[in-house]
Amino acid sequence: MPLLYKFICDQVGLRDEDGRPITGGCRFQIRSYGGPYMYLLKDGQEYLLPHPLEDDTARSLTGKALDDLVKDKAVIFKDAKICLDCLKFEDDCICKKKNLIEVPKLEGMACPSCNKGKIVKIANGMS
Ligand SMILES: [Zn+2]
Ligand SMILES: [Zn+2]
Repeated sequence: MPLLYKFICDQVGLRDEDGRPITGGCRFQIRSYGGPYMYLLKDGQEYLLPHPLEDDTARSLTGKALDDLVKDKAVIFKDAKICLDCLKFEDDCICKKKNLIEVPKLEGMACPSCNKGKIVKIANGMS
């Protein structure tokens, strides 16, 4: 079972001495698996196979079993990527710059949102 992680800026959720959230603080956080996602290739398109429904999703898209699709090399593994400019996932990039980075590489990086914090990885439960 892949673990689901939260990649979050260590400046998120900071509070002042009275316990009030500091306004204007950083809000950067994304949820992602710590490892690659499974994608199905079909008609030149890539379809995400969400865990734990890989098998059902593959079957509804192709009518074939996941094992057979893997043998046919119709299944690939890819890390999810986000755009460092608009901070959206690759497919949702709104700035069109597609300044992409693989999500697991964010860990330990300077926060692309506030440039003050550092990105930490927190286990967010099993998926
Ligand atoms: Zn973008
Ligand atoms: Zn930040």
